[in-house]
Amino acid sequence: MTSTDPVSALGTNGAGPGPSRAQLEYVVDLDAIAHNTGVLREHAGSAGIMAVVKADAYNHGAAAVSRAVLASGASELGVTTIGEALALRNAGITAPILAWLHQLDADYDAAIVGDVEIGVSSPRHLARVVAAARRVGRPAAVTLKIDTGLNRNGVAPDEWEATVIAAARASAEGAIEVRGAFTHLSHADEPGHPTIDLQKTAFDAALDGLRRAGLKPARVHMANSAATLTRPDLRYDMVRPGISVYGFSPVPQLGTFGLRPAMTVRAQVILVKRVRAGEGVSYGHLWTAERDTTVALIPMGYADGLPRTLSGRFEVQLGGRRRRAIGRVCMDQFVVDLGENEDGVEEGDDAYVFGNGDHGEPSAQAWADALDTITYEIVCGIKGRTTRSIVGGGTVAGAPGGNGR
Ligand SMILES: *Cc1c(COP(=O)(O)O)cnc(C)c1O
Repeated sequence: MTSTDPVSALGTNGAGPGPSRAQLEYVVDLDAIAHNTGVLREHAGSAGIMAVVKADAYNHGAAAVSRAVLASGASELGVTTIGEALALRNAGITAPILAWLHQLDADYDAAIVGDVEIGVSSPRHLARVVAAARRVGRPAAVTLKIDTGLNRNGVAPDEWEATVIAAARASAEGAIEVRGAFTHLSHADEPGHPTIDLQKTAFDAALDGLRRAGLKPARVHMANSAATLTRPDLRYDMVRPGISVYGFSPVPQLGTFGLRPAMTVRAQVILVKRVRAGEGVSYGHLWTAERDTTVALIPMGYADGLPRTLSGRFEVQLGGRRRRAIGRVCMDQFVVDLGENEDGVEEGDDAYVFGNGDHGEPSAQAWADALDTITYEIVCGIKGRTTRSIVGGGTVAGAPGGNGR
């Protein structure tokens, strides 16, 4: 197409030809990540911060988020798999990284070579790690994960003693260095729940066992976001927050704690049309126009992480105010009622689906509440054709349209 082509000339908000903005994107604001790390710093006191960047930093982009948190007060990173940790090493990140969920025959050799700390959850795991360390000819950095009641990952109580004995032996032999010990809470998001104190008691007893065996891990940690923000007595040497780094309250009923959501989802209006009174909209005509109205088509659907069960139950910010999404959410699109469209919403305008509220848009918390789930699942669920751009923190990457501010 040439620049005189009427189609391309009318491409983007009438701005003329040129690279077009993504029609569906989410913006991750590293300044918000840095702000949230600062909030957590205040709550951590003298304890260090291990920022949890598993699952591609809760879908925010692990490498960029890691750099931002390390520059703003975190000293270590936590991930689930060795693969996630090695990807961060490949991205040039040198801070300590702990990975804590492994199949028995995980690539411990690569973890040791890549200087990744290995979370160990059973004597079988430990034996594999020790074998890898002997093969590689370097000590493995090990953090013992203690199950104090979650009954999920972590060394079970009846295997704790055997694990400690084996760890002490491997440590004396120089095959491993026991750098840390940690546990994870089952009810941290219900402050005051009796299991929290029970888990602390069990953790302290397990730590005593470690010390009696001559092991003195330098980093002991327990607190996820909820405990970091509500239980200063559980800080130990380091706290281990995840969701709060991304700006969401781990205990929404207690407020936002001054955290700022880092993710904003935005889509372009791709079509505006009139619908007459009595006509239905989208599959099954779940919604019928009571009077003549104008509707806007937004190119986001369940393939992009907008749950179909939200049909008719959410709003977007468009043309300076909140608008109701109407009818069925489809695989690729949904429809918004503009009413008389007094604000003159046009094709190419931005619809803010959720974000930090800077443009008046709802929070992902609204989706979580409507769906009876948690913000973790909402932000991790954004996918499909939604492109990610990263702003703030001195870096702007892949955002030809800027962040819309
Ligand atoms: C995910 C995770 C965290 C972070 O939890 P948040 O509730 O997101 O703060 C901390 N520790 C472990 C072991 C985890 O799996």
